[in-house]
Amino acid sequence: MKKRTPITRQDFWKGIVAAVLALVILVVLNFTNSQISGSGKDASSYSTTSTEAASAEGAEGSYIPGEYTASELGFGGPVELTMTVGEAGGIETVKLTGDAETPEVGGAALETLQQQILDAQGPEIDGVSGASLTSGAAKAAAEKACAAARGEEVAEAATPADGALFVPGTYEASDKGFGGDINVAVTVTDNEITEVKIEGDHETENIGSFAVEMLDDRIMEAQSPNVDALTGATVTSNAILRAVKSAFTQAGADLSKFPAAQEEEAGEKTDETLDCDVVIVGAGGAGMTAAINLTQAGKNVILVERMPYVGGNTTKATGGMNAAETHYQAEQGIEDSVEQFIEDTMKGGHEINNKDLVTVMAENSAAGIDWLDSIGAPLPKVSFSGGATNARIHAPEDGSGVGAYLVTRFRQQLDKLGINVLYETRATHILMEDGKAAGIQAEGKTANYTINAGAVILATGGFGNNEEMIVKYKPDLKGTVTTSAPGIMGDGIVMAEEVGADLVDMDQIQLHPTVEQATSMLITESVRGDGAILVNQEGKRFINELLTRDVVSAGELEQTGSYAYIIFDQRLREGLKAIEKYVSTGITVQADTIEGLAEQIGVDPATLADTLNTWNTYVANQKDEDFGRDTGMENDLSQAPYYAIKIAPGIHHTMGGVKIDTSAEVISKEGEPIPGLFAAGEVTGGVHGGNRIGGNAVADIVVFGRVAADSAEKYLDAQ
Ligand code: ADP
Repeated sequence: MKKRTPITRQDFWKGIVAAVLALVILVVLNFTNSQISGSGKDASSYSTTSTEAASAEGAEGSYIPGEYTASELGFGGPVELTMTVGEAGGIETVKLTGDAETPEVGGAALETLQQQILDAQGPEIDGVSGASLTSGAAKAAAEKACAAARGEEVAEAATPADGALFVPGTYEASDKGFGGDINVAVTVTDNEITEVKIEGDHETENIGSFAVEMLDDRIMEAQSPNVDALTGATVTSNAILRAVKSAFTQAGADLSKFPAAQEEEAGEKTDETLDCDVVIVGAGGAGMTAAINLTQAGKNVILVERMPYVGGNTTKATGGMNAAETHYQAEQGIEDSVEQFIEDTMKGGHEINNKDLVTVMAENSAAGIDWLDSIGAPLPKVSFSGGATNARIHAPEDGSGVGAYLVTRFRQQLDKLGINVLYETRATHILMEDGKAAGIQAEGKTANYTINAGAVILATGGFGNNEEMIVKYKPDLKGTVTTSAPGIMGDGIVMAEEVGADLVDMDQIQLHPTVEQATSMLITESVRGDGAILVNQEGKRFINELLTRDVVSAGELEQTGSYAYIIFDQRLREGLKAIEKYVSTGITVQADTIEGLAEQIGVDPATLADTLNTWNTYVANQKDEDFGRDTGMENDLSQAPYYAIKIAPGIHHTMGGVKIDTSAEVISKEGEPIPGLFAAGEVTGGVHGGNRIGGNAVADIVVFGRVAADSAEKYLDAQ
């Protein structure tokens, strides 16, 4: 993947100069086709050339009588405002339209927003919670229209020359992404987009950051802002696309003239045949680990990835990697043992794990940590984590999420080693020859591939995103949202089954208890760990919030509506970086009082206030008299504002999968290894049993990614 050139200060100034030039040209030409127009008595005087306009004053009210229109980009397209100012100078009518807004969110908010503008007699409105983009557009449009109605000079939009799409120049715009502002600078000639620069340093590493990296090329290629959002990174993508549309609007473009997003054309693909030593399916943690190890061992690999980017569910891992008897533990005086690691994992997995696999994971975990050191991905910070007897979870020094941290470093290795990654290429079948795995078939965007290989490693992750499979193996989870990445569809399991592989523990599916349902965003365990509580719709606590994931999830499912609210305060927000994302995404509700918060979530205010007071007393006494919670009680919840997020259980990890032996060889229904076929990571079953403990997913991918690579190498050398 290419490196981004940041938008420099110089570029920004160039843009501003270009924009000013464009404006001057317009003023001289006195174009009429403006985005902001006034058609009242003094309509002609509202143009930017007017000298009268600057001195015009409203009659009794603040505005000059007449009709004014203005338009701003909302969530899906323009939000248009028309307002009339009466003879007395007050706003008499406001009409907002926004056909491209989501009907049940932004669309539904338009009427309230109209009323707010009318009531405020101007743009000083509260907006509608949950429809922040539409609200922002309505407010901005009202600002423009009111400025025009006050007779203020308003910058007119550019109008392209006849037959041109744009007024040439560089235009900038910003929009709110997932983690902060996204800035774009778009350079256009009369009819061509010549450059798109996107800057969004605060987007989630290896998720939103991919949209920042990739959408410029897509827009350039399509010569249109109507390109698909990057799957899995829609918030960032939509912010980028809105900013680009806004820049185009400044350039005078008529957005309706751009082609719609292209449907993929079927039937135009070529057939290609490729050869390699090992084909690895899936570029998540396990697949990349295997690819790097095999390349380091001198094997020629092809890594096939269904998505346009690497990382899978691995990117989302936040905690760390469990490992025992590591040099970091020794250096920090932490006593731990491989035996204890095995015992904790078996206990956490309700003793149904395959103990041989658990032993391989525990025994090779310290070597996994050493290997990560060797590729510049050290995990030196060791701490306690749920289900572990000793401090065993290894995390990055700087406190960043382990998944994104590792994926960045794995990507660097892929680049450094020149590993061939076929993106947007979905493996569909395993090729068998004389009873041995001999390659795969895969479907790319422009080609269908036959990839011949001496060995195949499946590293396709779990099946959390495949509802049909979820329901097949665990019918009661029908309709449950998932935290899984978009490519996690169970493909590896289906392909392996097709060539006779056995499957294990398929009904063992881990729920995470705090998942926001509209966005499927996982609210990290640290929020409860730092002191948040869960309440039901009746405003009451119902469980020790820090019991294991399965128990808390089951507790939630017993409540009214099968959901709960996670409640925290300002002190907790300030102590936990992750919360800013929840706030900026708009999934939190907040209020200055507990009663105010209760009203917003439809809970009885007195009951919620009572619940919090009681909880705060328990914290003060360090004794939870209702549910016996004894952790995450360092701080009470008493610092306004107060926050709530509505949550319910979500599918988090599928513990079952393809059966493997201790060499990561795939085992057939007859109990024999399938020659040449290996699997590692979430696609396999048996390591985690009935419940995966935190820190073991990363241990699994690193250890078994390396084991699979090692076994494939030995297998090839023995042929
Ligand atoms: P693990 O943690 O086991 O490494 P991840 O979820 O991190 O699993 O990664 C699995 C990767 O496999 C994802 O990037 C996913 O998009 C990819 N993948 C899934 N199915 C296919 C397929 N049929 N072809 C290619 N890649 C796939």
